[in-house]
Amino acid sequence: MAKSKFEYVRDFEADDTVLPNCWIVVRLDGRNFHRFSEQHEFKKPNDDRALHLMTKCAQTVMQELEDIAIAYGQSDEYSFVFKKKSRWFKRRASKFMTHVVSQFSSSYVFYWKDYFKDQQLLYPPGFDGRIVLYPSNQNLKDYLSWRQADCHINNLYNTVFWMLVQRGGLTPVQAQERLRGTLAGDKNEILFSEFNINYNNEPLMYRKGTVLIWQKVNEVITKKIKLPKEEEEKEVEVTRTKTKVVPLHCDIIGEQFWEEYPEILAE
Ligand code: ATP
Ligand code: ATP
Ligand code: MG
Ligand code: MG
Ligand code: MG
Ligand code: MG
Repeated sequence: MAKSKFEYVRDFEADDTVLPNCWIVVRLDGRNFHRFSEQHEFKKPNDDRALHLMTKCAQTVMQELEDIAIAYGQSDEYSFVFKKKSRWFKRRASKFMTHVVSQFSSSYVFYWKDYFKDQQLLYPPGFDGRIVLYPSNQNLKDYLSWRQADCHINNLYNTVFWMLVQRGGLTPVQAQERLRGTLAGDKNEILFSEFNINYNNEPLMYRKGTVLIWQKVNEVITKKIKLPKEEEEKEVEVTRTKTKVVPLHCDIIGEQFWEEYPEILAE
């Protein structure tokens, strides 16, 4: 096709190809979800509908886009790790980031009613995105550990905070005041002595967040087949192996996870 005289404007586009051989991490985070969660009456501190919807969206992202090895999510954020060797969109940063965030955002709206039923979606939510490269496996493990440690710190704080408000009768300001300067041990102690809650028995999804990995699963399906010599179609059960995105709520800070799933870092 003949080029127009306007073609030169393409030269103004910046080259955002990312470095080869690095893990490409895209993290997204809900925009102003403090307000969004209040307006949509999220149960505090952890609304299961919202957490499951986030994970559904992340599974959709992994299935629809190429080369995602693992994802990790908590609260209103999700991180997606693309394989070191990925050649998707010639490793252009803006393509990775925008495809992840837009696929996730449209999924959030698309699947909203499956999780929130009668709770109407009041306005279109948004998500921000960023991209970070990690050159070594250790850097990547430390990145994921950092997000899981953040999940733990926030969830412990939020669990005590909302106990003090919902069951202790404190105002949010008083609860905040009460918790100022407390250490993890103090918070565990308040939960245990005042509310009879052992923090370690709180659901794993709240304490550890959600890890998404690819796993081979056997599926039994019924197939209609027509056997030679027979008139009618027959239903038979066949087992086939599929690769699916599976959610886990486990520790990823220790080495055990990486020893159990060595294939994640192998590619
Ligand atoms: P920003 O736009 O800067 O990200 P934000 O209000 O989204 O602002 P975050 O630090 O991302 O701030 O915090 C997300 C907030 O969303 C949490 O403080 C929490 O109140 C709320 N939230 C997210 N997920 C849930 C959930 N599953 N259940 C209850 N509250 C949630
Ligand atoms: P990529 O993912 O690379 O963008 P693409 O299939 O979206 O692939 P584009 O170059 O963006 O390729 O072209 C968009 C295509 O969408 C057009 O070729 C056209 O077929 C279709 N399309 C978009 N808008 C309309 C419209 N309003 N009516 C009919 N077809 C449309
Ligand atoms: Mg923030
Ligand atoms: Mg947010
Ligand atoms: Mg957040
Ligand atoms: Mg297009």
